[in-house]
Amino acid sequence: MSETTEPGSYFVANYPPFDRWGTEAVPAVRAAFDAAPSGVPLGLYLHIPFCRKRCKFCYFRVYTDKAASDVERYTQGLIREAELAAGSHAVRGRELKYVYFGGGTPSFLSVRQLERLVEGLHQSFGWDNAEEVTFECEPGTLAEPKVKALRDLGMTRISLGVENFDDDILQANGRAHLSAEIMRAWDWIKAAGFPNTNIDLISGMVGETDESWDATVAKTLALEPDSVTIYQMELPLNTTLVHDWKESGVPAPVADWPTKRAWVDRAFRRFEEAGYAVSSGYTLVRDPQRVSFRYRDMLWEGSDLVALGVASFGHVSGLHYQNEPHWDAYLASVESGTLPIARGMVPTPRERLIREMILQLKRGWLNVSRLQDKFGVDVLAAWAQIWRGLQDEGFLSIGDREITLTRQGLLQIDSLLHRFFEPASPEPQAVAS
Ligand code: SF4
Repeated sequence: MSETTEPGSYFVANYPPFDRWGTEAVPAVRAAFDAAPSGVPLGLYLHIPFCRKRCKFCYFRVYTDKAASDVERYTQGLIREAELAAGSHAVRGRELKYVYFGGGTPSFLSVRQLERLVEGLHQSFGWDNAEEVTFECEPGTLAEPKVKALRDLGMTRISLGVENFDDDILQANGRAHLSAEIMRAWDWIKAAGFPNTNIDLISGMVGETDESWDATVAKTLALEPDSVTIYQMELPLNTTLVHDWKESGVPAPVADWPTKRAWVDRAFRRFEEAGYAVSSGYTLVRDPQRVSFRYRDMLWEGSDLVALGVASFGHVSGLHYQNEPHWDAYLASVESGTLPIARGMVPTPRERLIREMILQLKRGWLNVSRLQDKFGVDVLAAWAQIWRGLQDEGFLSIGDREITLTRQGLLQIDSLLHRFFEPASPEPQAVAS
């Protein structure tokens, strides 16, 4: 991998990669919804695609120009889609283990819209026994009554998209909020008493320096969140930063990878000194006994995930799918009573194993026995050469039944995972049991 931050995606979100997903798998995904459930835990993801402003590094499906009537129609669409998914054979009667409101900006919705949405969802999916209900917030969209309403509506984990505390950096990257809004929102969040509070940061935004990064880390520490998530700035092709780069010929001024890794490393050390524990290549938690990250862990261990919303990504009975990525097509589908599945992927049993193996490696360790029990494959033997290579380069150590990443390995885990990628299988395969 180049050491400079070039246009392209770095973060590995899933496997097989999205460029291997296609429309030919849609009938198989629909059949999986119509078939008996898989027996794994079930989660729900909702994509709320509205934002006040488009961040210059954003690569998600978001809208910044929708009227209140559009938002209302969309939330009704989500409720209808929930009804369709919950009525399918594969989902009917199952209890949700986790729920995730992501986006976009879920906190863009008003209290009234949120209440109507949650009430509508509850007619299809109860989540009273869910282990975690996460809700992502943008600081400038919050007000004290909204924060209280979120707690009353059953959210257990609030994730605040801070990214940085420096106003010049926030503005240079097109964020909608400023630091004063972060501090105000945090007081309300603390007062509301959520079981788990998370702050998101990005290392290496445009304009970042050693001093600004250290100040951001110090301010985050002072707020004492239950967990902190730190991403490294990347430049996917559909971002404003890459678009501007192509137009002007002037590269986006984003720090190189070694610098970003060094910043994350410094942040990890500061948080560890304050008693936090590293729980993945991106996350630290203050009290691992009390605070876990159920959405992440269950998804990485192969749970089902019902995806609601435009362009949303889901996983059912081992198959991947993505919803219609365009507003009109998404709404037309749900309003006519059809699940809005646009493309999918039917992984082979080996691809499923690789998926779980590489996603679980992001935690910094791998339980080899667990994968052997589940897939009947000794991953140490199956990928012996790659493990040895990674060990020789100082990225991990190989134990008897466990792989453990070093800090250097963990800090660049996404760039290492590609070594396990295999050529696309020639034919889509039937669903394995
Ligand atoms: S707040 Fe998040 S989803 Fe919205 S534009 Fe910014 S990065 Fe994208």
